[in-house]
This record gives sequence, structure tokens and C-alpha cells, in this order.
Amino acid sequence: MKPIIQVEGLSKVYRPEGQAPGDEQLEVKALDSISLSIERGDFVAIIGQSGSGKSTLMQILGLLDRKSSGKYLLDGQDISLFDDETLAALRSKKIGFIFQFFNLLPRTSAKDNVSLPMLYAGDDNPYPRAEELLKKVGLNQRLDHKPHQLSGGQQQRVAIARALANRPSIIFADEPTGNISSEQSNEILSMLETLNKEEGVTVILVTHEPDVAERANRIITLKDGKVEKDERNKKIAYQSGSESLNNDSFQTKASAGWSRIKENLRMAVVALSLNKVRTALATLGIVIGIGSVVAMVSVGKGAQQSIEEQLSSLGTNLLTIWPINPKSNPKMTNSRPLRKFTLEDLAALQRQVTPNSPISGVGSTVSGTVTVSNGANNKSTRIIGATSSYEQLQNASLTVGHFFTEEDNRKRERVAILGQTVVKELFGTGENPVGKIIKVNKVEFRVIGVLSAKGANSFQDADDQIIVPILTTMHRVLGKQNVDNLTVAVREDKLIDDVTEQIRNVLRARRGLKEGIEDDFSVRSLNEIREAVNKSTQAISSLLAAIASISLLVGGIGIMNVMLVSVKERTKEIGLRKALGARKKDVMVQFLVESILICLLGGCLGLCVGYSLSAAASLWFGWSVIVPLSAAVLAVVFSMAVGLLFGLWPAKQASDLSPIEALRYE
Ligand code: ADP
Ligand code: MG
Repeated sequence: MKPIIQVEGLSKVYRPEGQAPGDEQLEVKALDSISLSIERGDFVAIIGQSGSGKSTLMQILGLLDRKSSGKYLLDGQDISLFDDETLAALRSKKIGFIFQFFNLLPRTSAKDNVSLPMLYAGDDNPYPRAEELLKKVGLNQRLDHKPHQLSGGQQQRVAIARALANRPSIIFADEPTGNISSEQSNEILSMLETLNKEEGVTVILVTHEPDVAERANRIITLKDGKVEKDERNKKIAYQSGSESLNNDSFQTKASAGWSRIKENLRMAVVALSLNKVRTALATLGIVIGIGSVVAMVSVGKGAQQSIEEQLSSLGTNLLTIWPINPKSNPKMTNSRPLRKFTLEDLAALQRQVTPNSPISGVGSTVSGTVTVSNGANNKSTRIIGATSSYEQLQNASLTVGHFFTEEDNRKRERVAILGQTVVKELFGTGENPVGKIIKVNKVEFRVIGVLSAKGANSFQDADDQIIVPILTTMHRVLGKQNVDNLTVAVREDKLIDDVTEQIRNVLRARRGLKEGIEDDFSVRSLNEIREAVNKSTQAISSLLAAIASISLLVGGIGIMNVMLVSVKERTKEIGLRKALGARKKDVMVQFLVESILICLLGGCLGLCVGYSLSAAASLWFGWSVIVPLSAAVLAVVFSMAVGLLFGLWPAKQASDLSPIEALRYE
């Protein structure tokens, strides 16, 4: 029968970090070429003075540490061929550890402590067995006690129950009685003896007390990393027919069971609630980040929508023609004076309107500022001198009265149509001003209609204006010879390009522009203007969102910081978990769950904050609240992603720790 443990020429050299191999002054040769084999079912004590290498030997045999050189066969298989997963599986299923300082998970009940190795082995319901084991070590009254509520001896008994959880074939015990009273240590030793005799478990016990060692079958004495003595005390109670190591059966179950997820969540909640202030501050970062992103996105959306609404009330297939001042346009080569449009230009365009032409109407406006008065009430307002086509072109609607005609215009009639604001200030509410006489710059005008309300935007009050025939305005009010612009309505959207071309030709001919000379006027459709405005509001809202995401980034860095601290603080715990069979994956998931949990919490709170902010903004600006559902989903997904991203590195740091390195960490 092959021995369960066989080592040849096993050495372990500790050298300080960053030390090149070979500098013998700083190196510690803890194990010096040890060769021995241990039979299945044996009870072996390793003794020796402090510093003789007992713990080192046991940690290497127990797969917690790596050897420097030599050969180690565990159940006939060379362990240097095993990968990380298999090593974790072996630690969890093949080996049970009992430490001098118990190493129970703090703030975790005895039952949960005992269940841990079973969870890591993929057992979905370890609790009945955990209870059974605790009963076996005489702690059935202490299932839910936490380590700090138990005596040293009781803690060590929990540790024994934990070591037995996955029915190991070897138990390593490093000075298990070193920290408990002699009475209790007697009990512990009896338990180990029973396990050895009745269940055939191989026990390897490290001690420096000769009377403890006396209870073993075989005593190996170490001195300065070498075997000094190796003597047999009693005959081995050979356990025939013990199972042999089969790798497949030691692979943990692939399915991540519900219990394991629950354990991860439980640990995350414990860890987070232990440091409430730190958790709250880290969460606050994410709340601010997500909150500002949500608020900015929805404010941007609201602004965009309100501008859109205002633009669409203006009619879409309208072309507006403005003169360009060549001097103020650096792209234009020849210096020419600014040429405004005249009534002749308007007439020339009007001649283009034939029954079959794609142009459905032509108009023009001129505007200025005037003082209007009714008796003692007077105010300053905008006057728009318009052609009679204005009503149709601009979709102007009246609440009372009628629009003026081309006849009125030609006769330069002194008639006016008032905006709502003007009516309110000159007549007060509730009075019909149609037919009344007002004064415009001290000249009497008859009111013939009232425009329906258009509402104010952030730039100007669209109701603070009066509309007067263009000829009257030019000659009787403002004294202007030119019009401000020309407008052309196109029958169908798709004809816009053709009409633009047609207008350019007419105007270029009128202005005598030779080929090669740029237009000194611009023809733009409202659609174009709307697109340009849309583009710029979109650009502004993305900019706002981008700035807001910077705060999310900062929040994420805060999370990373907290997680790194958490990893540092819990290094020892990580080592312990690994010693109990946690794989890299398990440790990684544990810390990721923690950071995702913080971020998710922050994300949900941030969503509420962002929503309230945007509700406040929309009250202030007077537009509807738009927090798109996509923003809510995005906030949650995004905060989880932030947790994942910024938790990844700390989690990786944690999972890369070697078990014993972490366990030794102070
Ligand atoms: P024992 O358990 O027999 O008291 P150890 O196996 O703990 O002894 O230590 C053996 C030797 O290795 C000692 O000289 C000790 O100082 C040294 N040693 C143990 N652990 C480390 C370490 N992590 N780094 C450097 N030297 C170590
Ligand atoms: Mg030791």
C-alpha cells in the first residue's frame, strides 16, 4: 500500500521580498532536505524546539505554502502538477486544518463557520451536517454563538468540527492545544484519537509538549529544519481499504449554488455594516455621480423638447432669406457693402408665384421697437411690419378680429393686430380691444385683431408684439427704405432644394453677381435652423452628461479605495477562506458582490436624487419632467458596472494572495 504522504529532499528557504536567490546572509533555511513518508491511518506527532521548522513543514504538507525544492507526493501524485483549482479542491475535501489560534471567522456563528468548507465544496445545504458535527464535539447548545462568545476550548472544538466538515482523509493540527487549558486540551486530544481510531483519519499533529506527543503512534523530531529523530511509539492501527485519492471526485461542483450566493451576500452585508460610515461615504460618491447624470440627461431632454415645440409652431417648409454683410464674413473675398433687400426684391419673388410653381407664397417683414399707448397706459413693444401673407406663412391665428388685407397694405392703412401681452397692458384683461384706437409712436392706429397666445420662451416674450402692414410700418412708423428679410413658402418639403436654387438665381441676377462671386445673402429653411438648434442642444446636453459622468468616475474611484482598504483589513480572513478550500473565483466573487452592492445601493438612491433634481428643474423652467425609463435602467446598470469595474482590481488583489501569506498577515 502506498503511503499517503511521501516527501524527498524537501526544502524551504524564506528570503526577504526582493532578495535575489543566493544571498545566504538573509535567507532562512526553514526546511533542509527532509525525506519521510507517512502511512495512511497513522497518528504522527512532529515535535522540536521553536523555530525548528514544524509549522513550515505542516503548511507545505497541507498545501498552504509552496516548497522551494524537493518532491512531494500526496497519495502517490506529484502536487507540483496540480493547478490552483485542484489545490483548492484538495484543501477543501482532502485536508482538514486545526490551527493554534483557532482561526474562526469573526462575527460569524459556529454553525456558519462549520458550514463554510462545505459551501466552498459546492454543498447546497450544509447546515444539517454542521449541526451534527457541532453536536459531536459537544456544542449543540452553541450553534448560533459567535467566536467571541465562546471559550478557547470551545472555539477549538468548533475548529475541529469545521476540519471534519468534508470528511477529510488527513487532519493537520498545528499546536492545537497551545492556547487552551490542560483539561480542555485533553478533551481535544481524545477527539483526535477517536477520529484516528474509529474513522481511520490520518492525523499529523505539531506540538512542543512531550506529553502531548506521547499520545501519537510515531514521533518525528525536527531540529534546524532537519529530521533529528523518528521513532515509533505504538503499532499503527492500519486502516485497510481506505479510499485512494481520485482527482475527479475532488473537483468542486461547478454549479454556484444558491447557498453560496447567500453566503456571499451575507458576508458583504456583514462587511459593509461593520464600517457604516465608510460605506455611507462610498455610497454617497455613487449617489452624487448617478444623481447628476440622471438630472443632467433629463434636464437636457426637457430643454430639447421645449425648444422643439417652439420651433415646430413656426411651420417647417418656410425659407427665410437674409442679407449677409460681406465685411463681417471673413470667408467672403471681395469687400462689398451690405445690401439689404427692398420692396422690389419682394416684388421680384412675388412674380415667381404662378399657379404651378412650387412656391406657394412670398412674404417679408421689417421690425423695430415702438411705444404704444391707450390713454394713460403705454409700453414699449416690438412692431412687425408684415405682408398680408404673414397670416398664412407663419400660421398666425387670431382670437378675435381679422388679419389685414393686401389692399390695407397698399393703402398704408393704420391698422394693428396686438399680441396678448400688449392687450393686457393697454386694456387690462377681459376687454375686447378690436375697434379701439391706440397710438403707435403717437400716431393713431385702429386695432383690428388679437393674436392668440404663443407663450414666453427664455429669450423673449412672443406675445409682446404688434403686427402692422409692412408699407405702413416702413413709411409711417419706422421710416425705413429696406425690409429685414424675405420669406418663401414651399409647397412640399422635397421641393425645398429646387426652390432655394430658383430664389438664388433670381436674387443673384437682381444683384448682378457674376459667376464665381459668392452670394451676399443666405437662404435657409426652418428645418435647417431646427436641425442646427437641435444639434447644439444635443451637444450641450451630452456635454452636461459627460461632466456629470466625471463625478461618477470619482465615485467609482472612491469605491475602489474603500475596497482596497477592505481587502487589506481582511487579508487574514482571505487566507483562512483559501485554507478552507475557497478558490480564486470564490474570493473574487465575494469582494465583487460587496462593491456591486454598494454601487447598486448608491445607484438606486442616486436615481431618486436625480429624479427630484430634474423635477425641480422642470418646475423652475416650466417644462415637463422627462426622466426616460432608459435613464433609470441605465443608472442601475451603470452603477453595477461601476461596482464591477472598480471592484475588480481590489478583488483580484484579494484572490491572488497565497493562503499562508495571507493567513500570516498582521
Ligand atoms: P516552528 O513552527 O517549528 O516554531 P517555523 O516553521 O514557524 O518553526 O519556522 C522555521 C524557521 O523559519 C524559523 O527560523 C522562522 O524564523 C523562519 N520563518 C518562518 N516563517 C517565516 C517567514 N514567513 N519568513 C521568513 N522566515 C520565516
Ligand atoms: Mg510553529
